[in-house]
Amino acid sequence: HAKSSGANRYLFFNDTMNKQAVKRLQIENLIRHGLKEDYFTVFYQPKMDLLSGKVVGMEALVRFITPKGGLVSPGSFIPVAEETGQIVDIGTVVLRKACIDVKRWIAQGLFHGRVAVNLSAKQFMLPFLCDQIDDILQQTDLPSYHLELEITEGTVMQSPKLAIDTMKKLRARGIHLAMDDFGTGYSSLAYLKQFPLNTLKIDKAFIDDMSSARGRNMVDTIVTIAHNLSLSVVAEGVETHEQLEQLRKLRCEIIQGYYYSKPLSAEDFAAFLVEQKKQRPKVALL
Ligand code: C2E
Ligand code: MG
Ligand code: MG
Ligand code: MG
Repeated sequence: HAKSSGANRYLFFNDTMNKQAVKRLQIENLIRHGLKEDYFTVFYQPKMDLLSGKVVGMEALVRFITPKGGLVSPGSFIPVAEETGQIVDIGTVVLRKACIDVKRWIAQGLFHGRVAVNLSAKQFMLPFLCDQIDDILQQTDLPSYHLELEITEGTVMQSPKLAIDTMKKLRARGIHLAMDDFGTGYSSLAYLKQFPLNTLKIDKAFIDDMSSARGRNMVDTIVTIAHNLSLSVVAEGVETHEQLEQLRKLRCEIIQGYYYSKPLSAEDFAAFLVEQKKQRPKVALL
């Protein structure tokens, strides 16, 4: 009988471990299925210029559509996808869809900025990354200057010299580069100045801390570092008007967060752009 067998008892006592492994395998299978059946979609969150009050760009954020039509955020599947390497295929899907959507909004006269797409470490390390991006831009007929890529400190610090080469190649195409979640990983200032970046994105954790003087000092410091390196600064995860006002005082140029808008489906984002176009600038700010 199963219950009395030693092997099964062992499994029983390792239930948590076992459940995790099963869960991981389920997610891996779901991702594979999702890639085949086109269950991945892209949401967009606007980035607003604090001076003009205008939408200057948006971040593309992947979502998984469940069979019942629900949406799953990346937190639960990106870690698995990173491990299995499926993130590379997911990333390709996101990049293509983002280029197609933005191309349409540009053609409709609704937008003329940049779309920012997140790149995972595995994607960034692909030897054919630049060729792949070239192909997608060509296929979707999107000029490269409408594209921005977000990479993390962890990604570039895995192999800084190689990362600098890749970043230079991307910049040579007119693609902008942002360092995402800045301040949460490990990167030296010595490297930071060597990375051909355009933008630093201050991680939400620092924005959350702005209720304290120490926290505000930290953000002040990050903004100063960015400006000394001639980089623009985006604050992510801005949720309150108070945070917005503090960031404005600290001369942060661009904000992204629920205060302004949650990530929206392509359809809702288009409607948002239409609304923006009607509004006079600054109305959204005051
Ligand atoms: P991220 O690149 O730092 O993206 C910002 C995350 O913060 C998004 O979560 C966004 O929905 C969330 N966020 C924005 N404003 C606020 C706010 O005011 N309050 C709160 N609480 N959250 C806010 P999301 O969409 O769940 O994505 C999580 C992470 O998953 C991303 O962090 C990024 O690292 C990764 N990710 C998302 N899409 C992709 C993708 O296409 N490829 C790769 N490689 N990674 C992706
Ligand atoms: Mg990002
Ligand atoms: Mg981020
Ligand atoms: Mg973040």
